[in-house]
Amino acid sequence: MSADCIFCKIAKGDIPSKKIYEDDELIAFHDIHPITRVHFLIVPKVHIESLGSCETQHQVLLGKTLLLAPKLAREQGLAGFRTMINTGREGGQEVFHLHVHVFGGGDSLPKV
Ligand code: 5GP
Ligand code: ZN
Repeated sequence: MSADCIFCKIAKGDIPSKKIYEDDELIAFHDIHPITRVHFLIVPKVHIESLGSCETQHQVLLGKTLLLAPKLAREQGLAGFRTMINTGREGGQEVFHLHVHVFGGGDSLPKV
């Protein structure tokens, strides 16, 4: 828990979110500013600043985080989806608590 981290507060339940999944290690909730019809975030509960701060000890947690994406995407009715992990300010990261974006829904995904 990092005192002024918004995702730590969401993980603790101190800030409300449109939660779609929770277990001991992970939480997933809809992004507050969705950029596709379905846009949710998968967030390890432990405060890790970014993918750039991950170490060997985080291997299993990273695997669980990624494996949750297809399961939740299916539950959200997505036939396919896109994942994104912004890392560091130059990588477009704004919330410095590791999270995976999952995007999908219709044909709203821009070609990259
Ligand atoms: P980043 O740019 O760090 O990869 O993405 C952070 C994401 O978190 C953004 O898409 C932003 O809309 C979302 N976000 C920021 N604050 C909140 C919040 O309080 N609740 C929810 N549900 N999403 C948030
Ligand atoms: Zn945090």
